[in-house]
Amino acid sequence: MNIISSEKLFLRAQHSIPGGVNSPVRAFKSVGGTPVFMEKARGSYLYDADGNKYIDYISSWGPMILGHAHKPVIKAIQKYAAYSTSFGAPTELEIKMAELIIGMAPNVDLIRMVSSGTEACMSAVRLARGYTGRNKIIKFEGNYHGHADTFLVKAGSGMATLNIQVVPGVTAGVSNDTLSIPYNNMAAVIHAVAQHKNEIAAIIVEPVAGNMGCVLPAPDFLEGLRKICTEENIVLIFDEVMTGFRLAAGGAQERLGVDADLVTFGKVIGGGLPVGAFGGKRSIMEHIAPLGSVYQAGTLSGNPLAMIAGYTTLKELKNKPEIYLSLDAKATYLREGIDKVLTKSGVPFVINQLGSMISVHFSKQPVTNFDQASACNIPLFNKLFHFMLSNGVYLPPSAYESWFLNDALSYADIDKTISLFKKFSKQYLQNDL
Ligand SMILES: *Cc1c(COP(=O)(O)O)cnc(C)c1O
Repeated sequence: MNIISSEKLFLRAQHSIPGGVNSPVRAFKSVGGTPVFMEKARGSYLYDADGNKYIDYISSWGPMILGHAHKPVIKAIQKYAAYSTSFGAPTELEIKMAELIIGMAPNVDLIRMVSSGTEACMSAVRLARGYTGRNKIIKFEGNYHGHADTFLVKAGSGMATLNIQVVPGVTAGVSNDTLSIPYNNMAAVIHAVAQHKNEIAAIIVEPVAGNMGCVLPAPDFLEGLRKICTEENIVLIFDEVMTGFRLAAGGAQERLGVDADLVTFGKVIGGGLPVGAFGGKRSIMEHIAPLGSVYQAGTLSGNPLAMIAGYTTLKELKNKPEIYLSLDAKATYLREGIDKVLTKSGVPFVINQLGSMISVHFSKQPVTNFDQASACNIPLFNKLFHFMLSNGVYLPPSAYESWFLNDALSYADIDKTISLFKKFSKQYLQNDL
């Protein structure tokens, strides 16, 4: 595999773009090496600037759930682009999108579109604060809710990848209003809520975490959050930017059977275009401007191209629920295949998976929170990453990210991936023990 064009592009990019990338994890800093510059993608495959082909396990970090350049989505974007790329005035398409989401996601009476997951989470927290008249929020270590100031306390994803503990530029005043608690630790939540009686506006949580690798909620953890939020009049926010429309048509709420007060969306909801959304119970959402005085706005919010890409994607997911069964089956097949190979190798490992979210941790202990995710053998993951990359499989370039399957992925693709795990095991793991 040669990556001469990518190497040249990366050198050139660093002259005009900080670190050569527009989002930190893309820089390969933790895995090392040169990021691969992409040229096109189709179905389950990515093609880089040197013409190398990769089986894609990132799916653009989630959005490409139906596969890349999915024909109905591309056709719809082309059709709507000809009508104008933005009006700055309302369109019927925005209503259709809102109605579709309300029909799919539980506990969403009203929904507001924004342009990213960050904006969605930031706005949901502002709304929770405005609604409750309280300042503090609880978030969980290793959960990522976008890059708004409030959330940059022990956030997972890129911050974990780059080992950034404290973010310069985030004021102490802001950080002091964010209480960060170990994921899956209900006792710590109960303690924090008791210590800050009537001060907590919201608890925001990734119902299935994907930003410290894939980490599942412990039995009764989400139910416990629901209970304490109800008792203490705290707004429970499910950050479903990853899990929404991925774990089920109704997201984690539907799949795990727990109700949130507010829900944030992103990734899949835009079908690959920049979209986010936050929605929830009418009594809370009514506080958003222009109905209420919690201000929130966006020049390109509800952008017609973003709406039609998202609408077309969601509509297909709604009309073909078998897609979720197929994604689950593929993820299970992948997990079982890797499990068999790694068990044979003797290397300590844990595979966490739910639906089409999956990750392999090289760990002796279960991985249920950020400390355990951080204690994994990360150099070994990095070795795996580069082995896979050079053999045409594109995994997330960080041990702290979930893998996302897309429905274009074939069983032949998965078999190839499993056989590469075998090769990797023979080449590296036997020596690593
Ligand atoms: C990606 C992500 C976000 C941020 O979304 P952006 O569109 O990158 O701003 C927020 N929450 C979760 C759970 C995410 O995975």
